[in-house]
Amino acid sequence: MQKKKVVVLGATGSIGRNTADVLKRHSDRFSVYALAARNNLAELARQAGELNPEVVITAAEEKGTSLRKLLPPGVEGQCGMAAMMEAVQHPDVDLVLCAIVGTAGIMPVLAALRAGKRVALASKEVLVLAGELVMRAAAASPGGGIVPVDSEHSGVFQCLAGREKKEIARIWLTASGGPFRTWSRERIEHATLPDALKHPTWSMGRKITIDSASMMNKALELVEAGHLFGADADHLGVIVNPQSVIHALAELTDGSMIAQLAAPDMRLAIAYALTWPERMPPPGRRLDLAAVGSLELFAPDAEKFPSLRFADAALRAGGTLPAVMNAANEVAVERFCRGEIEFGGIWRIVGGVMESSSVEPQDSLEQVLAADAEARVRAREFRV
Ligand code: NDP
Repeated sequence: MQKKKVVVLGATGSIGRNTADVLKRHSDRFSVYALAARNNLAELARQAGELNPEVVITAAEEKGTSLRKLLPPGVEGQCGMAAMMEAVQHPDVDLVLCAIVGTAGIMPVLAALRAGKRVALASKEVLVLAGELVMRAAAASPGGGIVPVDSEHSGVFQCLAGREKKEIARIWLTASGGPFRTWSRERIEHATLPDALKHPTWSMGRKITIDSASMMNKALELVEAGHLFGADADHLGVIVNPQSVIHALAELTDGSMIAQLAAPDMRLAIAYALTWPERMPPPGRRLDLAAVGSLELFAPDAEKFPSLRFADAALRAGGTLPAVMNAANEVAVERFCRGEIEFGGIWRIVGGVMESSSVEPQDSLEQVLAADAEARVRAREFRV
């Protein structure tokens, strides 16, 4: 079997390390062309030793020399965005997995799609900011296209497989409800950083863990789902499943519901995105439903978690508003982590910045990035 050649962007993060684990387990099916990240040179070098890539890239221009000193012989060290852009378009590359946190994944994802590569996409920000532009590039991509990595979207992707759009009444994303699901609004208001980092079911990067606590993660995922599956606000819903075993459901027009269930292990969704349409044996134990015992389901509380209202507004307005929502949230999370604002301040910043923003159509990347930059300034200055 011809091995698939892969580029991993954001290799040192939570998704990146899980991806490295999947690639190592299936070294008979994959070879690695490039690994890229930013600051964590030691982890990049460790992965280079394990996965034997041709190229390792740090996005930080000033870290190129330090990186080269750490790499095993025969592995080329490069630096900067240009190196990432070149790697994703390399003629030998079949698939690019993007797990960069923040907006830096947009340009390489667009370049990979335009070069006809399949993109396994974890980075939510790419679709939240530039979903219209990215989906246009995916539709025009010769042999490329996007396979979702996010577990809920992987679940939807699997529930919808082989179905026609006219069969689908609504797409449901599940949410764990996060660590504050049973807390009062008053208590959530004053939650501390350690409280927000205690996710009940998933082990993830810091930013997404805080977003799960505020349910801004679900807001971003709703926008992401809207783009990936061509669904508007009236055809998307959220249901809380605290066990994180049901990842997504497709409600069909006749009232049937198709659910995707799996253990809460990101390696399953990563492996499926890498091998789709084929499947591989699971990396851990199979889901034992009898051991799970019961599956609880609740409607989300949009009064306690205003994030879902923000998502609704962003989905309905489209254009630059999702970018504004995302940027304001990123700044609000940074301010919360620095101890500048209380947890409840995250919502006041996001809501305030969204309300005072004008919505422009999504005509170009420059326009989206300008809206993003302006929202960041206003979120930094916003008095909570
Ligand atoms: P982490 O914070 O754990 O990792 C982020 C990664 O991005 C690191 O490898 C980091 O490198 C890299 N990075 C940051 N800036 C740049 C840059 N400018 N150029 C290249 N690489 C960069 O995040 P997660 O793995 O948790 O999440 C990554 C993305 O996947 C996010 O968009 C998240 O929303 C999404 N996602 C995550 C899930 C999860 O389970 N964690 C689930 C579904 C989606 P370094 O550390 O070396 O600086």
